[in-house]
Amino acid sequence: MATATKAPGDVSTRYEAVIGLEVHAQLRTATKIFCSCRNRFGDAPNTNVCPVCLGLPGALPVLTRQAVSLALRASLATQCTVHETSIFARKNYFYPDLPKGYQVSQYERPLATNGHLEIPAGAGAFRRVRIHRIHMEEDAGKLLHEGLPWSAEKSSIDFNRSGVPLIEIVSAPDLHSAEEAHDYLTALKAVLLYGGVSDCNMEEGSLRCDANVSVRPRGAEALGTRAEIKNLNSFRNVARAIDHEIARQSALVSAGGRVAQETRLWNADRGETFSMRSKEDAHDYRYFPEPDLPPLVVDDEWLREVRTSLPELPADKRKRFVAAYKVPEYDAGVLTLAPEVSDYFEAVARESGNAKAASNWVMTEVLRKVKDDDRPLSASPVPPARLAELIQLVDGGAITGTSAKVVFERMWTGGEDARTIVEREGLAQVSDESAIASAVAEVIAASPEQVATYRNGKTSTLGWFVGQVMRKTGGKANPQLVKALLEKALEG
Ligand code: ADP
Ligand code: MG
Ligand code: ZN
Repeated sequence: MATATKAPGDVSTRYEAVIGLEVHAQLRTATKIFCSCRNRFGDAPNTNVCPVCLGLPGALPVLTRQAVSLALRASLATQCTVHETSIFARKNYFYPDLPKGYQVSQYERPLATNGHLEIPAGAGAFRRVRIHRIHMEEDAGKLLHEGLPWSAEKSSIDFNRSGVPLIEIVSAPDLHSAEEAHDYLTALKAVLLYGGVSDCNMEEGSLRCDANVSVRPRGAEALGTRAEIKNLNSFRNVARAIDHEIARQSALVSAGGRVAQETRLWNADRGETFSMRSKEDAHDYRYFPEPDLPPLVVDDEWLREVRTSLPELPADKRKRFVAAYKVPEYDAGVLTLAPEVSDYFEAVARESGNAKAASNWVMTEVLRKVKDDDRPLSASPVPPARLAELIQLVDGGAITGTSAKVVFERMWTGGEDARTIVEREGLAQVSDESAIASAVAEVIAASPEQVATYRNGKTSTLGWFVGQVMRKTGGKANPQLVKALLEKALEG
């Protein structure tokens, strides 16, 4: 027997999940963090390399100013406190993609600490998720296990990514579900996109997320032992992995078992996490200050320069959209996820003079098309001015809302403007009473049963009649007129 309510002893109601996310974002710099090699995805393997990023003995790093500026943008955009002095450190470990045998990172003294982001908290409200720290570090190379002629026998290494600048953004353990983790990542991505910090492309690895998950009895203060899940290559997989991990840990703990502190890998095909290694402790890495780099000093002037160059951030924009355009909180949230979407919406709202319609079109048709086409909105075949014109045609009574949908489809596929399509396809709204009246008469004559139902008092069926007449007129009849004429005919 299926039932929607959970039994009182259900593990999912007895335990609360606690989640903290560690996100690595590649910075959109022209060059790498400690050398002048190009920072670019997709080039032929090992073409953007030099003695510094290959870790050859004696090569010395020089910090790229642009990388720091972008890290500062991220720090300020997440309301972190930037520290005047931060220190680079060596994190020592062996792996074939790390030729130096250590990763240069920031450890005890990171660039910035104590920020926050806002995530939706239901009913149009938002709540803060704290950010512990943001530090800078270098990326490692990339192992290539497949796609090469010799892949069956051996793996290769591409060092183009070695030395690409990263920031790591570490959240507090303030998240309690897969959905909240997803919301946090969405908010973080929006901020990084607006700030021009990273292109946040998860497929290309420019945004990567590790999830720390634990469970505790509901109402308990103390945190449970956590597992860290790696290998999460999409927002969807982050959410799936967290859901799976919460269920696994809850079942384990409720059966009297104990969660091991370990690193687990997510297998997207099997939909489960599995143990990779017991979690290393910080002392395993033998961190020590990087002797080849001086302390990073960010003076007030640099910070001010970065602060004044930041654009309006998504949370502020969201609030402004609600206030200025009267769009609901939820819609404003969606419209401000990416700068190109908010810019597009705002242009349509301004030019059409109808923010509500602009929001509806962008939230439904436009975003759906962009998703289907899998191309950026900036390459849209319907620029904002054209959509604004379409909205004005509807508002001015030149075409019906039904026709507008058809016109929009044509605009998107053919790249023509609305007026041209309306004229060519004869989509102008019909407000000619006699034409509509004859369609009304035909519908009524063809539907004696429905007419009887209506006349017996079920007047809520009017919508069905309107639909029939609209169909007969190819969606072009003035809906108000259709309604009025139908009511008259049906009452009679
Ligand atoms: P480490 O140094 O091992 O990476 P941190 O203390 O820096 O550990 O925490 C890493 C991440 O794990 C942070 O996002 C933090 O919020 C999260 N975290 C720490 N403890 C827990 C816990 N018990 N449950 C869930 N997440 C946790
Ligand atoms: Mg960590
Ligand atoms: Zn280099």
